[in-house]
Amino acid sequence: MAQIIDGKAVSAAVKDEVAAEAARLREERGLKIGLAVVIVGNDQASRVYVNNKKKACEAVGFQSYEYAMDEDTTQEQLLDLVNVLNRDDRVNGILVQLPLPGHIDEKAIINAISPEKDVDAFHPENVGRIMIGEYSFLPCTPAGVMRLIASTGVDITGKQCVVIGRSNIVGKPMAMLLLQKNGTVTICHSRTQNLKELCLTADILVVAIGRAKFIDGSYIKEGAVVIDVGMDRDENGKLCGDVDFESAEKKAGYITPVPGGVGPMTIAMLMQNTLTAAKQQAGIE
Ligand code: NAP
Repeated sequence: MAQIIDGKAVSAAVKDEVAAEAARLREERGLKIGLAVVIVGNDQASRVYVNNKKKACEAVGFQSYEYAMDEDTTQEQLLDLVNVLNRDDRVNGILVQLPLPGHIDEKAIINAISPEKDVDAFHPENVGRIMIGEYSFLPCTPAGVMRLIASTGVDITGKQCVVIGRSNIVGKPMAMLLLQKNGTVTICHSRTQNLKELCLTADILVVAIGRAKFIDGSYIKEGAVVIDVGMDRDENGKLCGDVDFESAEKKAGYITPVPGGVGPMTIAMLMQNTLTAAKQQAGIE
């Protein structure tokens, strides 16, 4: 039976570290840290994410500034707000909650965020920095996965790592981070021919597909570290991952549950990125 990787406990530890460092900087340097969160429209899931981000800011001692804009906000109005926030010294990090309404070009908005305040690490400059290993921020979900793998004590060096999914926000950066830690990385996607065969070679398997319980125990090598990024709904509408936990935990050495695995890490890493941004803007190492 696999050991469960407790994402709630690891994320709480990350937030405690961030809160302690933020308190120290406030006392010793008078540094106040602020995150601006921009939401456009009335998407319920986005609303929940934004509220969770605000709560996390309070918990670590950051100021959060929320900008809730109407569904019919124009691209120009949103760009104007981003430009104001880029110049606002109280704001160390800017997060524009995605997805945006269809009439707004997400790329144009992401590209307008100052790379120094891009705490989601979606700006092309930050993406490029990840490629060459000279980054300040990592995208929050892959960064959270790396912390979860580290919490198992398993050394990535020389391990066969398989990432399923090649999205810009999860799969691709995930593969780069495993490569930087000296894993031998294979990236799989919807056109991969021999998915099960490849998965069975994986000492570390990261699954980011977006299909409920798609990967069952028959895809998993005995003793593997299995990280389930998926956030899906099962046939009863219950939250579940891309991995069929019940059969997978019989084969894996370590496994993340859904909920309570990767999910809580994403916000914790956002707090970490905001702290990093504030320190860099203040010229603190
Ligand atoms: P995405 O952009 O839809 O990408 C899904 C990837 O899975 C694509 O690369 C796709 O291949 C691949 N794929 C689809 N069907 C496949 C199949 N049958 N076999 C192999 N690969 C297949 O999704 P995403 O944004 O990366 O998110 C993935 C999952 O993670 C979702 O469930 C999402 O909700 C979740 N997520 C969770 C968090 C968190 O905080 N926990 C954060 C972000 C995302 P192609 O490229 O060939 O289409």
